[in-house]
Amino acid sequence: MTQQTSHLAWTSVPGAGISKFIRRARIAYFSMEIALRPEMHTYAGGLGILAGDTVRSAADLDLPMVFVTLASHEGYLRQEIDEAGRQVDHPDPWTLSDWARPLDASIAIRVEGRAVWVRPWIHIHAAPTGTAVPVLFLDTRLKANDPVDQTITDRLYVGDEAMRLKQEMVLGIGGERLLNALGFAIETFHLNEGHAALLAAERLRRYPVNVEMQSLNGHRHDIERVRSECVFTTHTPVEAGHDRFDYDMAARYLGEFLDPEQMRLLAGTETLNMTRLALSLSGFVNGVARRHGETTRRMFPSYRIRDITNGIHAATWTHAAMGRLFDEAVPSWRHAPDELVNADQLADNQVWEAHQAAKADLIAYTAKSTGVVLQPDLPIVGYARRMTGYKRPELIFSDIERLRAIARERPFQLVVAGKAHPHDTDGKDLIASVNAHLRALAPDLSGAFLPGYDMDIGKHLVAGSDIWLNTPLPPLEASGTSGMKAAVNGGLNLSVLDGWWVEAWSEGVTGWAVGGDDPAGHAEALYDKLANVVLPLYHEDRGKWIWMMKQAISKIGSRFNSQMMMRRYASEAYLR
Ligand SMILES: *Cc1c(COP(=O)(O)O)cnc(C)c1O
Repeated sequence: MTQQTSHLAWTSVPGAGISKFIRRARIAYFSMEIALRPEMHTYAGGLGILAGDTVRSAADLDLPMVFVTLASHEGYLRQEIDEAGRQVDHPDPWTLSDWARPLDASIAIRVEGRAVWVRPWIHIHAAPTGTAVPVLFLDTRLKANDPVDQTITDRLYVGDEAMRLKQEMVLGIGGERLLNALGFAIETFHLNEGHAALLAAERLRRYPVNVEMQSLNGHRHDIERVRSECVFTTHTPVEAGHDRFDYDMAARYLGEFLDPEQMRLLAGTETLNMTRLALSLSGFVNGVARRHGETTRRMFPSYRIRDITNGIHAATWTHAAMGRLFDEAVPSWRHAPDELVNADQLADNQVWEAHQAAKADLIAYTAKSTGVVLQPDLPIVGYARRMTGYKRPELIFSDIERLRAIARERPFQLVVAGKAHPHDTDGKDLIASVNAHLRALAPDLSGAFLPGYDMDIGKHLVAGSDIWLNTPLPPLEASGTSGMKAAVNGGLNLSVLDGWWVEAWSEGVTGWAVGGDDPAGHAEALYDKLANVVLPLYHEDRGKWIWMMKQAISKIGSRFNSQMMMRRYASEAYLR
């Protein structure tokens, strides 16, 4: 039941029945994007990858869960890089029927006064041990729908505000009604980011209260009951990441679903703020790293906000060569990655050889994709992010001559990847300027930009890089997970202290910090650390370097995994 896609192994059981899942599922996880496998283009970035790792760990742990997302027939964005180094946007279609089958059920929601029919498709994700969870894809490409509504579930995150609202209606309202229509008896709804907030509003409509209760708290529905059901995970402190809709516009599409008075109490007086709506209607709210919890509490002081640090699905993101090594030394690591704590006992030469195998794959992929030929005996610095201002992809290029001098003294190589949102012109400019810098630095520093960052390229990069660079503007990186993937492969993080790294960082043991509190000093600090600590260690003390690789696998792999994360959600959020 395992299928190979290049070097990746993903499992699925198409066609398995749904009735046992309907009987068993108690927790429904709603996410606008879920990254299940590279061929299923239902994700844009980190949020979807996290949701995918959540699916994988829920299956491993046999949690009674069902997942709900959109079909996204046209995907998010296929990225092409043109001759000038600029991103060119394309749709990224995929074939839903190759990976899921339609269920013989549909429900309607009202959008702008019209009935919009929503049909679910089911994909079963099975763990290697045979336990499995269902994922439902919501689809409005149905003949019964008005042609404009048939496109609602086409393109992920690309489209105008109205399209965005309609997608959130299909996910939240449509998804809730479908689970109900299919006979699921859900006790806990997990809203992965504010996109799913209308789900909580739909739950609210199910619990009207009598006039006496209304006069007590001014609400026409039983808020506490909905709060006892809903868990909300917020994923970004960046304001633009919080959906807001104009109330007049929202009223046009939502119609009588929207009770304006009640909505203003729950979701903000000025605009319909989906984060506020989810905060108001969820009894458990969390940020995705300790530091992000602190930031979120400052942003929303009147709510109780906890934190559950993100994790990665270790078995998915570990390169096959490293995985074989773990299989021998720590046989249960795929199911119980906490046991990777013993990876510090691995033999140095075996760890190095497994890493070199992963690096050879990255080098081969880079040559095939860009024509740039990298050297296996020189360190590779990997950097892959969504290309947008606060991630500061340009930081390492702040002083080109300094960078050139560092690379001349102790050579290294740079591999970069990342997409800009089609509407983010600044992000697109960043891609063009990163490409211009890479060209200007050759041949003193070999570098490549890998077009089309996705799960597959992500895995090549995190497994094959020696050093994993991250330079966001604090405190805007909520968590980040790619550095965790690098670590479980023996990659060493070189990162600004933000997001998850604050918890995992141990200087000179698990990796290195870049800079302090003042972001103005970060570029200088990065150059100093690269030139004086990181590159000398790689070139001149291989023994200590490999010791750090094993520390990273052991200390980070054993803690920052999605099994650990899901155990925390299960015990802290779902079993309240
Ligand atoms: C892991 C991953 C991400 C998220 O990583 P960050 O550290 O949050 O940037 C995004 N996209 C892909 C393809 C990934 O594999």
